[in-house]
Amino acid sequence: MAIVSFNKTVLHNLISKPKTRKAEKEYPAGTRGHVENDMDLCILCGLCSIKCPTHAITVDKNEKTWSIRPMSCIQCRSCVDNCPKKSLSMGLRFQEPGTEKITKTFKQSEKAIAAQEALMKAAKERAAAAAAAKAAAAAQGGQAAPAAAPSPAAQAQPTPAAPANQDQNKE
Ligand code: SF4
Ligand code: SF4
Repeated sequence: MAIVSFNKTVLHNLISKPKTRKAEKEYPAGTRGHVENDMDLCILCGLCSIKCPTHAITVDKNEKTWSIRPMSCIQCRSCVDNCPKKSLSMGLRFQEPGTEKITKTFKQSEKAIAAQEALMKAAKERAAAAAAAKAAAAAQGGQAAPAAAPSPAAQAQPTPAAPANQDQNKE
């Protein structure tokens, strides 16, 4: 009798649907995700670090790294909304579970470093050109100043009747 009952259970389990659900591959709607950084765009300005209310982000400009402590992040999105280069986003993918408070560190990409150096070089060249143009204009102005000085004849002409007006105002 026990064999019959066992066989019934086996048969039932073979043809019925599983009682459990498969793990979801995508985030359900409404969840906030987790912070991801595209290091090809990040210029290490540090604004995200300043805006983070839990100090979960650290930027090291000397080492050219951007770090985040995932367990300190409260998924508020403040860093994402304030990133001037739009390199941050809320990734909607599950992460590996962890038991330790780790820090994830990412190095700025060579592409981003080259782009940033090119921008800085162009800015320095613009500043140097502007300074040179200003110096040239100042030199030209210095030479033109004596020619623009009033001639002796003009200086000899009587001054406008300002005192008379003053007298009129006094009356
Ligand atoms: S992620 Fe954005 S805000 Fe943060 S350092 Fe990079 S560019 Fe600046
Ligand atoms: S989502 Fe909020 S808490 Fe998380 S790193 Fe960004 S600013 Fe900090």
